[in-house]
Amino acid sequence: MKKHNFYAGPSILPELTINETAKAVVNFSDTGLSVMEVSHRSKEFVAVVDEATELFKELLNIPDNYSILFLGGGASTQFAMVPFNLFVNKAAYLNTGAWSKKAIKEAKMFGEVEVVGSSEDRNFNYIPKGYTIPQNADYFHITTNNTIYGTEIKHDIESPVPLVADMSSDIFSRPIDIKKYAIIYGGAQKNLAPAGVTFVIIKNDILGKVKHHLPTMLNYQTHIDKESMFNTPPVLPIFAALQTLKWLKKEGGIESAHKRNIQKAQLLYDEIDRNSLFKTSVDDLEDRSIMNICFVMTHGNEDKESAFFDYASSKGMIGIKGHRSVGGFRASTYNALPLDSVQALVEVMQDFEKKY
Ligand SMILES: *Cc1c(COP(=O)(O)O)cnc(C)c1O
Repeated sequence: MKKHNFYAGPSILPELTINETAKAVVNFSDTGLSVMEVSHRSKEFVAVVDEATELFKELLNIPDNYSILFLGGGASTQFAMVPFNLFVNKAAYLNTGAWSKKAIKEAKMFGEVEVVGSSEDRNFNYIPKGYTIPQNADYFHITTNNTIYGTEIKHDIESPVPLVADMSSDIFSRPIDIKKYAIIYGGAQKNLAPAGVTFVIIKNDILGKVKHHLPTMLNYQTHIDKESMFNTPPVLPIFAALQTLKWLKKEGGIESAHKRNIQKAQLLYDEIDRNSLFKTSVDDLEDRSIMNICFVMTHGNEDKESAFFDYASSKGMIGIKGHRSVGGFRASTYNALPLDSVQALVEVMQDFEKKY
């Protein structure tokens, strides 16, 4: 039976990424060696990093005064690395979920953190609006897509201070105006590559303002100067990321991906809104994510949750269980997920409604 992969992360990758990476595990770039056993400084691998960097620039329209880094440590290391490199007096954060909270916790080790808005009062089922970003903050941090709750900031916000965004789960899903951001970072395992590589897009002139000493590995400047080769970068995930970037370009770039993502999300949200057994778990409909679509059973039908899970599983739906802090279901519709998979899930929801 065909499997439909709705995992939230690590998650579905393009077939091309998996096939090309499988080939390179055996014979990388006609070297007769595996990509796992070549030097990261070999000319063949340096070419991989260079091409991945170029495709980042091209696909996201990144200006020349920004650097692109491929690091280890996951987005979670960035929660600390951002304040280490930017925090002088005070930072501002928007609290939109578990990942935001983890980022806030790290920043608090450096001093005053102003949380300008929070949706924790309603279990993060909306994006706070109408908040004020303090002019005296060193930077303002947001999580653009809240992977667990299915809410998303779908436009580039205006910030009077340098804007830092965790885009782990929506990078490459929609066009973004890079100039509005000082730093964009994310773990690659949601929409780009297997786990192990973290991307950072950083405006070069944002650095150099902190007074304290920085551990070498946690200093962005180290990695900018050495073009991600200060230490051994995650070679295999970077190779895979390059394949995804090539695929994205071949499929028409980010604008096409965005159109497909909207189409997929609309199809599923329409069914959630129509189907008497399911409802959206997000309060403000405009905040509904196009990457992670969360839904729960309607009132009076809560007892059918596990029956639906079993039925959907029997039809090949993988990874649709909601995060334990929200319950219900979550279908992640990342770039690589085909429309067919969403159609298949919609049919399963319709069939299930008829059965009950
Ligand atoms: C998954 C995720 C993280 C954590 O990423 P790691 O690479 O596992 O550290 C952080 N932020 C968001 C928005 C995520 O979806």
